[in-house]
Amino acid sequence: MAFIIKDVRKKLLEHRKKTYRTGVLPDNITIHHSATETGNSSAFAAYHVNNHQWPGVGYHYIILKNGVVERCWDDHTVSYHTRGLNTGNIGICLVGNGSFTTSQKSSLIKLIQILLKKYGMDISKVKGHRERRGQTTRCPGFDAGVIRDKLRNDLNSPLLKIGSKGGEVKRMQKILARNVQLSKYGADGIFGLETEKAVKEFQKQRKLTADGIVGVKTWKELLKERKK
Ligand SMILES: [Zn+2]
Repeated sequence: MAFIIKDVRKKLLEHRKKTYRTGVLPDNITIHHSATETGNSSAFAAYHVNNHQWPGVGYHYIILKNGVVERCWDDHTVSYHTRGLNTGNIGICLVGNGSFTTSQKSSLIKLIQILLKKYGMDISKVKGHRERRGQTTRCPGFDAGVIRDKLRNDLNSPLLKIGSKGGEVKRMQKILARNVQLSKYGADGIFGLETEKAVKEFQKQRKLTADGIVGVKTWKELLKERKK
């Protein structure tokens, strides 16, 4: 399933008299679940407005069972999802009750990665609802530490292949050069033919699939080497 963000801002039910505060730069992210098996932005908007008398739906993003992300508010809108801690807090809700589809989990990671980058936030700013101060809830029904681990892992092991450029390539090349020849261009931050050849050689040495692409497994071997 491709990663899709469906923009439903301004299309959802809102309270006739109340509006959420806006204009706050986000500096943290809270993960929720709906604690229901079904639902989407319009169902939750109706519930939050009619039952809670909130200005509108509480979450900024809702991730449906099929992995589609519904974007409900601008990130700088202070909507309600974490009691007393909503200022600068982006609320992401997974539809489900503690267990979620593979598409949902992968969309969650991608969405968070985008938001972290956009606002320059550290991974430690991502928390599950129940980890937030003063909240009495089991939401989101799983340990958000798993998500932080995955985010850290992806950050430390970015997919690199021919054509990749930059600091991550350089970092990889430096470690690579301790194991195989990388004499012509050295650690220049450009993943060209020489680097590809060297990666394949390293992969052969380590009995990995020699595809010349540095993914999680190759990173793992490279980082093992660094620890020696
Ligand atoms: Zn919650």
